[in-house]
Amino acid sequence: MSTESSPAQTRLSRAVITLDGPSGSGKSSTARGVARALGLRYLDTGAQFRAMTLWMLENGIDIHDPSAVAAQTHLVPLESGTDPARPTISLAGRRIAKEIRGQAVTQAVSPVSAVPEVRARLLQLQREIIGSGGIVVEGRDIGSVVWPQAELKLYLTADPSARAQRRTRQSGAVDLAKTEADLLRRDQHDSSRSSAPLVVPDGAVHLDTTDYTLEQVINQVVAMVDEALANP
Ligand code: C5P
Repeated sequence: MSTESSPAQTRLSRAVITLDGPSGSGKSSTARGVARALGLRYLDTGAQFRAMTLWMLENGIDIHDPSAVAAQTHLVPLESGTDPARPTISLAGRRIAKEIRGQAVTQAVSPVSAVPEVRARLLQLQREIIGSGGIVVEGRDIGSVVWPQAELKLYLTADPSARAQRRTRQSGAVDLAKTEADLLRRDQHDSSRSSAPLVVPDGAVHLDTTDYTLEQVINQVVAMVDEALANP
């Protein structure tokens, strides 16, 4: 049996697949599932913005003062691991996956993410991690700003009530109406900021996940990757 890779396998090992969309659209679970199914790396850029925010809060920085946030940005000792089976996020070696999902960070992350210096620092880090490819990357501006040349770009959405239900299940929150209101407020903030707002990237496939199970969405995306790489 030949051990040489086929051209499609070689293309897959260098491919970059981007998933953008609002929170609760199914991006994270889909991106991880697709990366696992295809043997690719996985990067959660939302976790990086959340880690920056946690550091600002822990260090007493006023997150509503953009110049104070900007002045600290280069000091944040942030590291992301890209194994989809065990994605990690750390500050100076301290694992912070749990802390970054708490209420305090969720409420503070949008203003921190709107600061251009924060975006510039993370853009550089994200491009370094993507490197020579073989990765699924999820966020808000990946197909539009970070890697517009990706082999496949997806934009995921779902009805606000379905998104709020998913978030409630994930976070253990009890108040569905409040979760939906928080989510819509964050969407509004992320879509209206001047620096890299949430948009449907040029050339992206728009996928509404409201009526599909996670497994169905993963299967659809895997099929799209196969097709995109078979006919580059
Ligand atoms: O995806 P997640 O909900 O964890 O993202 C948290 C926040 O990080 C978003 O609300 C947004 O403000 C910011 N973000 C961003 N650009 C990205 C990923 C996340 O501005 N690429």
